[in-house]
Amino acid sequence: MENAWKKYEDIQEVMNFADGYKNYLSTCKTERECVLETIKIAEAHGFKNIQEYIDNRIQLLPNDKVYYNNYGKSLVLFIVGSEPIENGMTILGAHVDSPRLDIKQNPLYEEQEIALLDTHYYGGIKSYQWTTIPLALHGVVCKKDGTTVQIVIGEDENDPVVGVSDLLIHLAKRQMKKNAREVVEKEDLNITVGSMPLKGPEKDAVKAHVLALLKEKYGIEEEDFTSAEIEAVPAGKARDYGLDRSMIFGYGQDDRACVYPALMALMEVENPAKTLVTLLVDKEEVGSNGATGMHSKFFENILAELIWLKEGFNEIKLRRALSNSKMISGDVSAAFDPNYPQVFEMKNTAFLGRGISINKYTGRGGKSGANDANAEYLAEIRRVFDEHDVAWQTSEIGKVDEGGGGTISYIMANYGMQIVDAGVPVQNMHAPMEVSSKVDLYETKQAYVAFLKEM
Ligand code: MN
Ligand code: MN
Repeated sequence: MENAWKKYEDIQEVMNFADGYKNYLSTCKTERECVLETIKIAEAHGFKNIQEYIDNRIQLLPNDKVYYNNYGKSLVLFIVGSEPIENGMTILGAHVDSPRLDIKQNPLYEEQEIALLDTHYYGGIKSYQWTTIPLALHGVVCKKDGTTVQIVIGEDENDPVVGVSDLLIHLAKRQMKKNAREVVEKEDLNITVGSMPLKGPEKDAVKAHVLALLKEKYGIEEEDFTSAEIEAVPAGKARDYGLDRSMIFGYGQDDRACVYPALMALMEVENPAKTLVTLLVDKEEVGSNGATGMHSKFFENILAELIWLKEGFNEIKLRRALSNSKMISGDVSAAFDPNYPQVFEMKNTAFLGRGISINKYTGRGGKSGANDANAEYLAEIRRVFDEHDVAWQTSEIGKVDEGGGGTISYIMANYGMQIVDAGVPVQNMHAPMEVSSKVDLYETKQAYVAFLKEM
């Protein structure tokens, strides 16, 4: 595998694609923001809400472009193919949720005239990485009157930021002896939000001040936290990384580094024979459960609606459409890190700059929990990538028994479809700031276009 940068005489297209991605990353810090922004991009490319077709029983015709918004947290984009749906679909999948700190349902308290928000971490994090960095609060507060307040605090230059404190080194003698897992207890990831008392109240005047500000700016009461989803995420925009600007440094690249290519690839294809799908799901980082995760039947349900609108529903068409499909589960893989070479097996590792990484299997231990893609299917994928001059590599996540991970691929494989994981290699996975290579992002988009056009 050659370094993919060497393919390009002119790197402008690679850099331009990365600029679009940087904007997407900076705008989309939560699953909800990803869905909203993706709908905006899709609508600009002619996609319409499938609900209009369902409500008015409008027939879906070849090359019609529709999307299904599932609770604002997961999204399915379809380009209707000319062939019968039972021939199968060509599907790109990725997840829109990322590790973060969720604000608890009863979060606000005061301790010695400091107001704090209590959090519950979401996904796999090293807790010590989340202290002493600027955090922003993103989310929704749903009020009893049925209205929803959108919150983004900490992204505008003039906004305040919040954060989690850490023990000063001078008093950390005992802390420094602790196991990394316990250095910062997850329950202690409390976010400082204020220190100025409101004039008047005797008790908890700092907390009262924060509440007064929230009331004034957003019209929300303390009780409204009960029905809120507020996520604390690293504040600020994604940046170019490296003196040569070859990489991107930003929050949430697992898995928006695959979401964006899967979205933009779909925008490049017209008049497909097979029905094409980009499937963006929530809750991957916590096991894909809930109504917006991949284990939910929402995809099957909306596919049933699509079949009904396109050619009339029957159960066997639905079953065949699913089992005859071919899918790439786009998820990030671990990029080699020269600071920690000991965890990688060099022949089977993904490297920054060497293109899209194909993972035949994920899982842990003896491939436990893995979707182990069929060799026949890998041969097909490899042929398509080669025919389109895509830079690709294969990898698994670290040495045997060093750790592991999972994706959504084993869930979609339950339908009997062909599926393999392939996406962008990322350094610092699950850290507040992750690193990807611009050329890998571009190669991944090119790989996804080739997949949509040829499979
Ligand atoms: Mn992932
Ligand atoms: Mn992950």
